[in-house]
Amino acid sequence: MKNEELWQAALGDIELSISKANFITWFKNTSIISNENGRVVIGVPNGFAKEWLENKYNTYIYKALRSFQEDVREISCVIHNPQNNSSGEKAAERSQASSFNRDKAVESNLSASEPSQVQAGTQQSFDYISESNINPRYTFDNFIVGENNELARAACYAVSQNLGRIYNPLFIYGGVGLGKTHLLQSIGNEILRKDPKKRIKYMTSERFANELIDSIRNQTINEFKSSYQQIDLLIIDDIQFLAGKEKTQNEFFHIFNALYQINKQIVLSSDRPPRAIATLEERLRSRFEGGMIADVSSPDLETRMAILKAKLAEKSFYLEEDVVKFIAENIKNNIRELEGSLNRIMAACEFGQKAPDMELVKRTLSDLISSGKKKGVQQNHVVEAVANFFGIDKKDLINKGRKKEISRARQIAMYLMRKELNASYPGIGSVFGGRDHTTALHAYEKINRELETDSKLREDVEVLTEKIYEI
Ligand code: ADP
Ligand code: MG
Repeated sequence: MKNEELWQAALGDIELSISKANFITWFKNTSIISNENGRVVIGVPNGFAKEWLENKYNTYIYKALRSFQEDVREISCVIHNPQNNSSGEKAAERSQASSFNRDKAVESNLSASEPSQVQAGTQQSFDYISESNINPRYTFDNFIVGENNELARAACYAVSQNLGRIYNPLFIYGGVGLGKTHLLQSIGNEILRKDPKKRIKYMTSERFANELIDSIRNQTINEFKSSYQQIDLLIIDDIQFLAGKEKTQNEFFHIFNALYQINKQIVLSSDRPPRAIATLEERLRSRFEGGMIADVSSPDLETRMAILKAKLAEKSFYLEEDVVKFIAENIKNNIRELEGSLNRIMAACEFGQKAPDMELVKRTLSDLISSGKKKGVQQNHVVEAVANFFGIDKKDLINKGRKKEISRARQIAMYLMRKELNASYPGIGSVFGGRDHTTALHAYEKINRELETDSKLREDVEVLTEKIYEI
């Protein structure tokens, strides 16, 4: 196998074992530089990637390479500059907003700095301030308040009226599609409404990490940092992606402190509370916990109906009360799905020129609401994700084998079925070759206990949880 083919094959394997965000951040623009006598040298775009690949992903890389070339026994990384790196290309790529292009743009910058790039970097640091990334679509006005989000909404509103003076930092957490981004953005909109000159910066933590790496590569880290000093409100969304990125956390901590000390407002969101973010540096965690923490949870039926009605009014569309109730009763997980259902129904009506009656609504949403079926699929998801992740056969995972590595993976799968799908212990037992329910119970309790002290396990479980939902 040629080096390039070998690396592509290995990357295919690695991609299955780690989270998408991490894969893109650390493995794009890598290649095999040499491969002799079992020694593989991987070219990486920068020192960050080198550190991560060598320390954190070493075993993944090793395992993946070994499955295609048995004699591999040593892996090392060197910083290697890709050729295709003109600043024109960089500018073109930078203007693309999608995250994938964004990642590419970052990577194309990860080679040695030349004077022209430093120039481009300085230019770019100016943009840090000028672009707030606030989307006018998300306001307090069109945010429906229910018991599930009352506290978070109140905290966000209070912050928008007392910037930097109460609740600093403000930390909002909750599951996917429950309105975190909407609330964070509402703060920005409210402030800009009152004073368009206020300097606001909204970004996801992934983007923050990428820009930081850019600035290191371009040797504009000082500009990068000082551009943050001038901000009145810094909003970082989905902070959980900083987990495990120590250098990024470190820089974030400094920026955070600098802003905090001059009473500038910081607002953060995450899919879980600070204490549940594995490998979040202790000093960051305690900083976050030192401010105000509020959660958003799933809306109840009444709130779901109110949200649907508000969205209908926004779109000047009408549905009968019983149809609205039907949707709200069946689409329970999150508000993004609720909105998605509405969009589907509208599309079905427009294209079919039909009145949106109950019949049509049921048909349009049938795949979303056949929950029994969905659940069956999800148990397979767990088996598949865990098998892929640990590189074992699904059959071995399910059957009675007692090899240590396999039974460990099996316990994790059992844990995930309980935790994520709320499956019954007898049900879990039967998925795994008719085992007794006590086996499932013990597995759950064992993993649950170990999670408290074993950070590697926590990370694995975190990645796996993502994988289940990606399948
Ligand atoms: P998250 O960031 O928590 O994943 P979002 O803020 O992106 O969720 O919300 C998903 C969608 O649902 C967005 O379009 C948002 O406008 C809408 N949404 C969420 N909560 C509410 C609410 N309480 N009222 C109105 N729309 C909401
Ligand atoms: Mg969001």
